[in-house]
Order: sequence, then C-alpha cells, then structure tokens
Amino acid sequence: MRVLLLEDDPRIGANIAGALELAGFVVDCERDGEIGWYRGDTEAYDAIILDLGLPTLDGLTLLKRWRKAGIFTPVLILTARGNWDERVEGIDAGADDYLAKPFRLEELTARLRALIRRSVGHASALISVADLTLDTRQMRLSVGGMPVSLTPQEYRLVAYLMHHQGRVVAQTELVEHLYHQDFDRESNSIEVLVGRVRKKLGSDVIQTRRGYGYIIGGEAA
Ligand code: CA
Repeated sequence: MRVLLLEDDPRIGANIAGALELAGFVVDCERDGEIGWYRGDTEAYDAIILDLGLPTLDGLTLLKRWRKAGIFTPVLILTARGNWDERVEGIDAGADDYLAKPFRLEELTARLRALIRRSVGHASALISVADLTLDTRQMRLSVGGMPVSLTPQEYRLVAYLMHHQGRVVAQTELVEHLYHQDFDRESNSIEVLVGRVRKKLGSDVIQTRRGYGYIIGGEAA
C-alpha cells in the first residue's frame, strides 16, 4: 500500500513516515501544498495523510481541488487539537477521517489501515480468501491456519492482491502501489516477486491472467 504524506513539519513528517514504513506502507513525503496537490493528482495512492497547515496551498483548499477533480483517494486530515471547526470543515470538504495533533503513531497507523480496508470494501482487520488469512494489524499471513514468513515486499504484494481479491490487477498498478515514485518501473521485479511468493504459497494462489495481470481469489483460468 502506497501512501502520500503531506506534512511540512520535518520532525513530525519523519516520525510518521518511519512508523508507516515499519507498518508495511510505502510512503512518499511532501512538505509543500502545491507540490503535494500535484502528486495526489498524478500518482496512484491508497490513502493520503494531509496536514491542514501547509505552505503555498492550505490543506482544505487542496482537498477541495482534488475532490472537484474527481480524485477520491481516502484522505485522513491532521488538525490542531481543539480546533473542531477545522475538523468539520475538513470532513465537509471530503476528508474521510481526522486526527488531532498530538496523536499516537499507533492510532494513525490503525486509522490508516481501516481507511484503506474500507475503501475497498473490507470491514475487518482480518481479510480472508480461500485458505489464506491476512492479519493487517500484525502484518501476518497464514495459510490454512499456519503462519507463512514473508519479506516486506512479498507481504505488500499479497496484501494488495488480497485487498483487491477477485479483481485482475495489472502489473503497472502493482508497481504503482508497491514501490516509491523513484522506482525503476520498467524492471521485471513484479514477475520476480510473484515467483518468490508462489514458491512459498503454492503456484496457484496468485493466478496470472496473461496480458492483463494477476489475481488472488478469482475463478480458475
Ligand atoms: Ca503544518
């Protein structure tokens, strides 16, 4: 899962990015409102964390612009404590959740996971398909109740396909959601990654739809 973090305070930004990377997210950080708006407009993110006080373009205006342009990526806004009118305005402008500063990084991570899950139709932190169970809180995968050890990249691949189970996901979409924006998108790393996961989970768990992409939880091709 790839997240855009717009926060102009470098210390807070680094803390959040560090916690989210540890929790299995790929994080792109920006400090400037206009640049952040452009990123959200042109890149594919699973969620966006938006500080409302940003230089060059404030968070509320930025959010309204995205929504007006038809960008419906889930957005969690960071607001000043006690500033209830800011929160109301943020939600009216199209925010999906908010957190008041200061907050616990654990709470931010949990809210973000829930936001992403719900945006693709999963109510629970446990996501299952066939005999696979993904525990998004623990970042663990089990097959038939037995835990499987995955590298962070392998986990991200399986988690993305399980969140979007039953849908064929193109290789380009996987590259966009599994790697940072400066990643070499022409490489064959997704094929390699899928091959490694198949060795661990069995060859039929991730199915290939030739010319289209990959799917978990589809009918046999
Ligand atoms: Ca700020």
